[in-house]
Amino acid sequence: MVEDETANSEKEKEALISFWLKNKFVKDQRVIEAFRAIDRRDFVLPYQKAIAYEDRPLPILAEQTISQPTTVVQMLEALELKPGMAVLEIGAGSGYNAALIAELVKPDGKVYSIEIIPELADFARANIKKAGLEEIVQVINADGSKGWPPAAPYDRIVVTAAAPDIPKAYVEQLKEDGILLIPVSISEEPELTELIKARKQKGGLVKKTLEGYYTFVKLRGEKGYAD
Ligand code: SAH
Repeated sequence: MVEDETANSEKEKEALISFWLKNKFVKDQRVIEAFRAIDRRDFVLPYQKAIAYEDRPLPILAEQTISQPTTVVQMLEALELKPGMAVLEIGAGSGYNAALIAELVKPDGKVYSIEIIPELADFARANIKKAGLEEIVQVINADGSKGWPPAAPYDRIVVTAAAPDIPKAYVEQLKEDGILLIPVSISEEPELTELIKARKQKGGLVKKTLEGYYTFVKLRGEKGYAD
């Protein structure tokens, strides 16, 4: 039974990869390798293991979600990650995205993943440890809407929650030529966003909107949504 489930998940995982390659959703082979290396089943709740590779977000704890695989890999590709980079992630959630980033910046890179909900910070930390990536990923329980000044500046900043706009702190904490990837709300319904990819140039941001619309849970905290 369990073996069947594992085999089935593997099949679904490979089907997703074929779909991405065929549709040119992902071009970077390193992103595919990272997706293969990190098992999404280790980051979902125990009862969700069999459906871990369905292409949809899944509820984790405290009404939050682990993003859908296609969104995760599109964001990873947009980040143009390289070994040795220092990356700030806002919204650790399950720790899945942080683990994938770690795969792409290891062995010398570092990932600082900020999570505002204490029980989710614990969940992410435990999952990261299980994946053996605790030397690379540090999960911090804090309000990441202000960034994380202690480890700044960063080569990359990625936000995995819908922001009302781009907090200034992110620009300040990004290195020159660094990339900020952030879903910004586009309507009355904050969860509906466009994905902004911005590069820091001469101290300011040069922005581009990626194709498509995305849904994320709301960014909370001082520079996020109040409720
Ligand atoms: N990247 C996660 C999914 C993120 S869901 C994964 O791979 O599983 C968005 C997360 O952002 C939620 O866990 C939510 O609690 C967190 N969050 C929302 N506002 C935040 C803030 N201001 N600072 C840090 N984390 C925040």
